[in-house]
Amino acid sequence: MIPKDHPRYRSLVARERLARCAREGVVALEGLAAHGRGEAFDYLIGERTSESALLAARTAAAMLLSARHAVISVNGNTAALAAREVAALQQASGADVEVNLFHRTDERIALITRLLEEHGVRVLSGTAERLVPLAHDRGLCLPEGIGDADVVLVPLEDGDRCEALRKMGKAVITVDLNPLSRTARTATLTIVDELTRALPAITAACATLEPGERDRLIASLDNTYLLRAAIDEMRERLVHALE
Ligand code: ATP
Ligand code: MG
Repeated sequence: MIPKDHPRYRSLVARERLARCAREGVVALEGLAAHGRGEAFDYLIGERTSESALLAARTAAAMLLSARHAVISVNGNTAALAAREVAALQQASGADVEVNLFHRTDERIALITRLLEEHGVRVLSGTAERLVPLAHDRGLCLPEGIGDADVVLVPLEDGDRCEALRKMGKAVITVDLNPLSRTARTATLTIVDELTRALPAITAACATLEPGERDRLIASLDNTYLLRAAIDEMRERLVHALE
């Protein structure tokens, strides 16, 4: 049992859950390393949602609501950390949810689908095809899912796949605590925030955005500005860290 008053309670609970999901095969061992990189950046932004991240989350909501076909792409870490949050976002945005894995096996797809469904997510099923211009199984997706989407939310994505989805002409929204990653820099919109804070922020915005505000947010989207704001936030915290 992790004591509730431990200063790193949330982080310890997340680690425990990821470790359990790794033992069950939902999370790839590589996913544990990726989470650690994320945690380090979360320290630097003060483990809270910055103003620029909130603006990014609101813009993400606007993009999802205005899409012809929005799809949320879920991997093992996302399912382990935020299955309930994905269900709420699906409900609020009307987006489809597709399981899409870097370390893809039929068994992991089935495990993750079941975990998501247990938390109320409706998961697309079908036969994946190699539609994304990437070698091997990383190019697989559903023709009626990501293959057809104009807007894809890919939390915790790898830079290569983000770039490949952009090359297909899709708008890509990502959640990535590292504003320097290739994913963060190649996405159409990057939310520099921890996944379990970012998804509820998008869900909340879906419920409150007026149509006029949606158009305004999309028209003024400037990802370089958002990344710079996140880096400035981290730099400020570093400069004043020992005061
Ligand atoms: P890229 O391929 O985009 O250059 P990378 O190779 O450094 O990035 P990956 O392992 O491909 O990193 O992707 C994992 C990314 O997800 C990391 O940048 C990490 O900061 C981020 N990340 C991990 N866990 C979380 C989380 N819970 N919330 C938000 N971001 C996270
Ligand atoms: Mg990568």
